[in-house]
Amino acid sequence: MFEFTEEYESLLREVREIAEKVVKPRAKEIEESDEFPEDMANRFFKEGYLQILIPEHLGGVGKDITSFCIISEEIAKVSASMSLLVIVQSVGTLPILLFGSDSQKKEYGSKIPKDHLIMAFCLTEPLAGSDVGSMQMTATKEGNRYFLNGKKNFVTNGGVADQYIVFAKTNPSRGRRGISAFVVEKGLSGMTFSSKDDKIGMRGIPSCSITFKEVPISNVHLIGEEGDGFKIAMESINRSRPAIGAQALGIAESAMEIATLFAMSKETIRKAHCQAGRNAIYAGGDGDDD
Ligand SMILES: Cc1cc2nc3c(=O)[nH]c(=O)nc-3n(C[C@H](O)[C@H](O)[C@H](O)COP(=O)(O)OP(=O)(O)OC[C@H]3O[C@@H](n4cnc5c(N)ncnc54)[C@H](O)[C@@H]3O)c2cc1C
Repeated sequence: MFEFTEEYESLLREVREIAEKVVKPRAKEIEESDEFPEDMANRFFKEGYLQILIPEHLGGVGKDITSFCIISEEIAKVSASMSLLVIVQSVGTLPILLFGSDSQKKEYGSKIPKDHLIMAFCLTEPLAGSDVGSMQMTATKEGNRYFLNGKKNFVTNGGVADQYIVFAKTNPSRGRRGISAFVVEKGLSGMTFSSKDDKIGMRGIPSCSITFKEVPISNVHLIGEEGDGFKIAMESINRSRPAIGAQALGIAESAMEIATLFAMSKETIRKAHCQAGRNAIYAGGDGDDD
């Protein structure tokens, strides 16, 4: 059976304290204002949460997926959107860590903790969600450059991120095998950001659409080989899926606690609970219905 080591237990205690003392007091305000919380991002960098999977030799903290899940769950208990900040940062970092060349890891990976860079992951398109292979965006090679054309939507951290992992087809006739991945730094000409989506939850961490029109990028920004994009996307998503589960668990645990406290504050429910207890004593049971 899997058991937490002392290292995990200690991380859990630390994150729980940060969540209670630092995140919880800001949570409602972040949700209402829908402004990206720079203070939280800076604090999360200080705690190591936004560079959790980056190895120590690249300036990160080099923790594993279980640690990533612990952080995501504990923060989600007080703020789902602050947990999203942690998760998306790693989704945007993983392509570089898993498939980047040594020089890309040094150039783009080590800059994340050093310069407190925020990451984004641009896969989804208006006509390509679950069905990644039907993406329309293209990267056309000319000499030692590619030109990006197309549109991405639901880009979490869109507009605030410093580096974007962008998936585009270098060979449209090959379906998902024709997809390639690029690391794109902010500020390139031809990238237009829509206004942020007006979400009903997960506010404060923006998402938006990005239009790419003849965006020029050098071929040194290609991650892995041409055609590796689908594999890079799936491997990165697979490693962050457990944290999405942990986030959902954190939200559910908190909702359960709030609902229970609310229910117990109601006179009728308290009375019913006491009556169930008395019935159990007379019947010799434990008060449970089953
Ligand atoms: C809060 C949030 C943040 C996000 N952040 C990002 C981000 O940072 N970067 C990014 O690239 N994307 C992001 N996304 C987009 C997300 O990855 C997509 O929403 C997801 O891939 C699903 O795509 P879709 O919304 O087009 O739904 P669809 O693919 O159209 O799916 C709609 C429904 O149909 C079902 N379905 C689809 N295909 C099949 C099938 N073959 N058989 C049976 N059922 C099927 C799905 O399960 C789903 O229930 C984000 C989304 C949300 C909600």
